Amino acid sequence: MATASQGEKKVVIIGAGIFGVSTALWMYKRGGYSVTILDKAQTLPAPDAASTDINKIIRSGDYADPTIAALNVDAVNEWRKPEWEGTYHESGVVMTAECGSAGNAYVESSYKNVCDNGIPAMHCKTSAEIRKAWPAKFRGEDAVSTLTNAVSTVTHLASPSTTRRLGQFHNRTAYLNPHSGWAEAGRAVEVGLRRIANEYGGVIRAGCEVVGLVEERGGDGKSVVQGVQLASGEQVLGDIVIVATGAWTPALFAQDGMEQLPQVIATGQSVAKVQLTPEEAQIYSGNPVIFDMKSGFYVFPPTPENIVKCAIHDKGVTYQAEQPNPNCRNDEASAKTGVSVPRTILTPGGEAGCIPLEMLRKLRHHLAEVYPELGKRDFIATRLCWYLDTPDGDWLIDWHPKKQNLLFATAGCGHAFKFLPNIGREIVNKIEGTLAPALDNKWRFEGRNHARDASTDSDLRGNEGHARVAIKVEDLATSHDLKADRFAAPQKIGNHSRESRL
Ligand SMILES: Cc1cc2nc3c(=O)[nH]c(=O)nc-3n(C[C@H](O)[C@H](O)[C@H](O)COP(=O)(O)OP(=O)(O)OC[C@H]3O[C@@H](n4cnc5c(N)ncnc54)[C@H](O)[C@@H]3O)c2cc1C
Repeated sequence: MATASQGEKKVVIIGAGIFGVSTALWMYKRGGYSVTILDKAQTLPAPDAASTDINKIIRSGDYADPTIAALNVDAVNEWRKPEWEGTYHESGVVMTAECGSAGNAYVESSYKNVCDNGIPAMHCKTSAEIRKAWPAKFRGEDAVSTLTNAVSTVTHLASPSTTRRLGQFHNRTAYLNPHSGWAEAGRAVEVGLRRIANEYGGVIRAGCEVVGLVEERGGDGKSVVQGVQLASGEQVLGDIVIVATGAWTPALFAQDGMEQLPQVIATGQSVAKVQLTPEEAQIYSGNPVIFDMKSGFYVFPPTPENIVKCAIHDKGVTYQAEQPNPNCRNDEASAKTGVSVPRTILTPGGEAGCIPLEMLRKLRHHLAEVYPELGKRDFIATRLCWYLDTPDGDWLIDWHPKKQNLLFATAGCGHAFKFLPNIGREIVNKIEGTLAPALDNKWRFEGRNHARDASTDSDLRGNEGHARVAIKVEDLATSHDLKADRFAAPQKIGNHSRESRL
């Protein structure tokens, strides 16, 4: 436990993802707090946390909601500071949508908010204008590529033309935000954890699974939270307990002695990766991120390890453990209560990290639409990564209404990573009673307005009309399915065709 000086508040934060890390950093910047972060993972950053990843999109004001857009622009100003050790890369982000779709309304409002924040975004209203968001050399329209393509055409050479590297973007609208980009996500969390421990003397403990609260009844009969109970039996006490447990929150609150949280749900989102050679990576390295607000598909430029990651931001899938799993309390709680629980590489039996077969097919299809050559490549890995979702896509940052000293700082809803440098400031503002009313209303525990409108929303998912499905283990892809030719022809597995399930 961190030792508190006279007058300092002792804070216990459960979870070392971006909500936990950012809160601890801002508590130390503000002063008056001593912090202990507890995480169930044996190594940190937790390998299966939503925040731990090779990259995440860092949009700069690319939100339809003007309040969140402004907070987002502020986050990017923070990302540029040396304290984030160059983890942020300003590649530009292309926000696109099919003309006339709900995504179109989102993109138009988002473009307006970006311009209102003084960012010189480039509106692209035709296919040709959208393609211009990519470097001329990449799209094969610089002088050298044009000449090479002309020679290829005249001599019928078989070598692929550079013009086929990039999709056509028919019937689309878009804009390029040159101030947006991506972050090396796992490394950024590591940077934050190191600063908490080394610069500020905060305590960070891995391998500490919280299984309950230490509570006592106050004079008014209300519960007063005094700390947390670990799976080892140890109690860790504090003046404030902050729940920053991401997608595991519903399972934690479904354990014996806790009260379930009906307003949040864990949803699994599908990710796939392609390995490039250093030469190929060089070709794709100057590209922007593209995020399609119609399908939810997005794809990054290559990482320093020459990996291209793509994913789909949609309603996702849920997972209910079928059997109580004695090695996993969260599965146990899920099997008992039916709450959705993350099935990750650390879940016994989930080590392969496979995604639903149907999502694999969609990822390949959308990747080929943007980068036709990459759509023909094997995937090297997939991952089901877990959001904690609310019905309105806004986060949950509020005190528990019935348990004193217990604060929620969670429900990132698939778009919180980019706020790592500044979300903790708002969480500390909440604790100190200075959070702006517009944000306070959005993030409260009870009485939220769940009505959605794409032109003012803070979150919009691909395939909006589709229902969220509960997955079963047999719905998941196998390593064989990662091959490029997997969807070319139906394939017999045992007595049934797996293609029939797509
Ligand atoms: C596939 C995917 C892509 C995304 N892409 C983007 C993007 O491009 N841009 C963006 O801005 N956002 C993105 N997000 C969203 C973003 O990653 C999340 O909103 C954010 O990382 C959530 O952080 P967190 O701290 O709430 O949760 P997490 O990072 O999941 O951290 C929760 C931590 O709590 C710990 N924990 C859980 N239960 C317990 C317990 N009982 N005891 C102790 N410790 C516990 C876990 O081990 C974990 O370390 C994406 C998310 C996913 C899944």
